[in-house]
Amino acid sequence: MSGWLAIAGLGPGDETLVTPEASAALDAATDVIGYGPYVARVAPRAGLRFHASDNRVELERAAHALSLAAEGRRVVVVSSGDPGVFAMAAAVFEAWEQGPADWRELDIRVLPGITAMLAASARAGAPLGHDFCAINLSDNLKPWELIERRLRLTAEADFAMAFYNPRSKARPEGFARVLEILREACGPERPILFARAVSTPEEVLTIVPLAEARAEMADMRTMVIVGSSRTRLVARDRGPVLYTPRWAE
Ligand code: SAH
Repeated sequence: MSGWLAIAGLGPGDETLVTPEASAALDAATDVIGYGPYVARVAPRAGLRFHASDNRVELERAAHALSLAAEGRRVVVVSSGDPGVFAMAAAVFEAWEQGPADWRELDIRVLPGITAMLAASARAGAPLGHDFCAINLSDNLKPWELIERRLRLTAEADFAMAFYNPRSKARPEGFARVLEILREACGPERPILFARAVSTPEEVLTIVPLAEARAEMADMRTMVIVGSSRTRLVARDRGPVLYTPRWAE
């Protein structure tokens, strides 16, 4: 059995942000599996099979990838950003742990990528320069009450915050509620960054105080970052710098 499975992150969008390790795995692969738009980022070549699937079928997709690898194929499951951040790596291990015994010793590797949070913070400066939390605001896989609870506790602990999936289609009013909670917990002056489609031609960065933040400023291609009480917004002609100093008392 010479098959293997690599779960690779393709980074936030730009080709130069795909790691050489992920590119090498794709060059050696016989099969590429993933959500349609991510599979579309891989260049076709002779002998490479594409298996594009819908969003939200992560476990089926993972099981399919595992069974192909068990048949001896060289399979790359692609995610955007990093595959371990709200993406396919955990889904593959969920399917793997529940799956047949002959999957146990499969050659499975996770290949890291540049996650949207890090690409967005780098564009703005260094808002995650001190302690921070990353929270997925989608309530597909957890109750909304848990999101609100984590949000309040994170704000109380004065972390900077990075939010993935800010506006879930299933719950469009959720993000407006998130902004209300943040205004209550952090005050109206705290800077909030909306980083849309980072590292793509459609990239737009907007930084406003929480008082001016509107739910419509975010969509499913937006990463949202809120500073801690220490975060600095410094104006300059080339656009402002948002950064959090390395220290706290
Ligand atoms: N595994 C991915 C995250 C998947 S969740 C990663 O590590 O980046 C999908 C969410 O990621 C989106 O709703 C958005 O909040 C964020 N995202 C992904 N790519 C982005 C990009 N290029 N610019 C801004 N946000 C992005």
